[in-house]
Amino acid sequence: MPRSPDFPGAAAWVPERLTVEAVDEGVQACRGCDLWERATQGVPGAGDPEAGVMLLGEQPGDMEDQEGKPFVGPAGQLLVRALTDAGIDPARTFRTNAVRHFRWSVTKGKRRIHQNPSAWHVAACGPWMVAELDLVRPDGIVVLGATAGKALYGSGFRVGETRGRRQEFPAALPGGAVPDHRPDWVLPTTHPSAVLRSQDRDADYAAFVADLEVAARLIG
Ligand code: SF4
Repeated sequence: MPRSPDFPGAAAWVPERLTVEAVDEGVQACRGCDLWERATQGVPGAGDPEAGVMLLGEQPGDMEDQEGKPFVGPAGQLLVRALTDAGIDPARTFRTNAVRHFRWSVTKGKRRIHQNPSAWHVAACGPWMVAELDLVRPDGIVVLGATAGKALYGSGFRVGETRGRRQEFPAALPGGAVPDHRPDWVLPTTHPSAVLRSQDRDADYAAFVADLEVAARLIG
């Protein structure tokens, strides 16, 4: 996908030598798109840097933006519970997002309201996903929701068509990048925030756990 002329993309801020610290510093310095301007800080991936599984979400939320860590808000808490129920140790995962600065629209009380990142933002932030894949070198990726899926497979990705079923890692990412490290499997499912918003939360939570159980079997 071509980049917006206004967004140079993150590549210039990705360090040559990939370490957790260097990636963290690079994300904080990144000006690859406009999202840094209204965010408190960048939110790079976090967790076990030697994890066998990477969890890929959409973008940081209000709490993540304030704390600088991914999945620390209500959706993250639900994710931890679902992973545990599925037999995956949350401490043995690496959690990150397709976009690393919080995009929000308006405030409601003290809370800022999430706004979906555009395809341009996802493309601009893509070099960080490649960097984190090459840093962690996971065996598999759990894709949490449509934005994460589109970051891997492009705009045609639909969660409902593939959730809970093992997929191949794409030959190339939508922007044409090819990570050095190619995970063995990809498991799409919904985003935990969709479960939180569901009118039928018990059923959707059970379906989410069932998808994660497939990932647990792939982890072995
Ligand atoms: S969202 Fe990604 S590309 Fe945009 S400034 Fe933040 S780290 Fe850089």
